[in-house]
Amino acid sequence: MKYFPTIGIECHVQLSTKTKLFSEVDNDARGKEPNSCVSPIDYALPGMLPRLNGEAIKFAVRAGKAMNCEINKSSRFDRKHYFYPDSPKGYQITQFYHPIIGAGFVELPSGEKVRIEHAHLEGDAGKLTHFGSYSLVDLNRVDTPLIEIVSMPDIHSAKAAHDYCKELWRLMRYAKVTHGDLYNGNMRFDVNVSLAPEDSDELGTRAEVKNLNSFRSVERAVEYEIKRQTKILEAGERVIQETRGWSDATGETTGQRSKEEAKDYRYMPEPDLPPVNLSAEFIDEQLADFPLMPADYREKFKGIIAEDTLEVLLDYPELMKKLGELPTDPTTIKLVSNLFASVLLAEEKSAEYLNDLPDKKQLSELAEMNEKKELSSTATKEVFLRLFDPQMKGKDTKAIAKELGVIQENDLGALEAIVDMVLAKPETKKAQDDFKNGEEKVIGFLVGQVMKESKGKANPSVAQQILREKLTK
Ligand code: MN
Repeated sequence: MKYFPTIGIECHVQLSTKTKLFSEVDNDARGKEPNSCVSPIDYALPGMLPRLNGEAIKFAVRAGKAMNCEINKSSRFDRKHYFYPDSPKGYQITQFYHPIIGAGFVELPSGEKVRIEHAHLEGDAGKLTHFGSYSLVDLNRVDTPLIEIVSMPDIHSAKAAHDYCKELWRLMRYAKVTHGDLYNGNMRFDVNVSLAPEDSDELGTRAEVKNLNSFRSVERAVEYEIKRQTKILEAGERVIQETRGWSDATGETTGQRSKEEAKDYRYMPEPDLPPVNLSAEFIDEQLADFPLMPADYREKFKGIIAEDTLEVLLDYPELMKKLGELPTDPTTIKLVSNLFASVLLAEEKSAEYLNDLPDKKQLSELAEMNEKKELSSTATKEVFLRLFDPQMKGKDTKAIAKELGVIQENDLGALEAIVDMVLAKPETKKAQDDFKNGEEKVIGFLVGQVMKESKGKANPSVAQQILREKLTK
């Protein structure tokens, strides 16, 4: 019997707000001492009351829009109780009954749609580091604002799970709600996998793999779970509903604990925070200059930029914005997107080159020079790279190319004079005779001589054309 996998994904996104969700402490603890970014509000000392960070609400509205979701005008917070040293409150403040973000969908590069069930705001927990017989607690991350995005069970392969997580990462960065630094856990994925017989309408028992922090580990963990569960079912046994951990090193998931149910958390409305009521005007204001999303660019550049090139470029929101601002003629877009892709694929260069992009005037001029064959393809790339130099900011592209001495000689008169000069040289006599006797390939030697004489500025195809005309006369 064949089994059909169904995958649901919960994704936690750390919002890059200035302060924490309920206190005025710095939300960016990167490079800071453990427990140095903590307010008594974060660990709920008696008498401390949380106050909601308005910026987090604005971010949630933008995140929701990025996923084509409804924004709920009225939402509120709840307490989710659990006991663990990473949460001195004894509960997490989250949105269980009335989340701020309602139903929507995310479109994958393949065109498949994954529906979003809802997404809610909540505070993060602290971090435990384990050392043999003891553990250390760092509360810097407590109540960093998170959005937890809950998908519908619309994913049915490891590849689609990978693509969905990656697309979420892009969307959240396009919407500018997170740094999206996966290495530092800015986005974490919980993946639940179940298998059911292919002809069954019901979902099988699911196992959840928690805390994955790369697209690759999402893909590998799903692949592993599909294999593990298939084996269990084929042996006539039953999959246990449980939470499992993933190890990148072994490439395996291992059972951790049986899955809690909602009732175990004793959810109750948070008494210290009022409901969040948003007006239509407030929501519109947040979305006034909402940028284009990856799906918009796929539509816009369809048939102009090759699909795989575009997928590389889509990882860089600022770059896409720049491409989107260029004149829409396909020649410019095609050239500039290929140049960007070739720079980005030389990975060690990507970071430094992307901080400060050339302006659209420079890029259009570059495309124009290339189109007019004033620049060879090698020279075009050379000038392109030069445009990233801060000292070249705002400078005329033609002037830069001139300085580099790479403008091709297209002036027919000037080129003809050079060709005549080359043909007058005694050392080209033999090649000329050979060509006249039908030895086609010596034309390359003659073109080379013209290039040399012009110090590389001649357009080789035009030079060849002139040579042929003169030699066959
Ligand atoms: Mn959560």
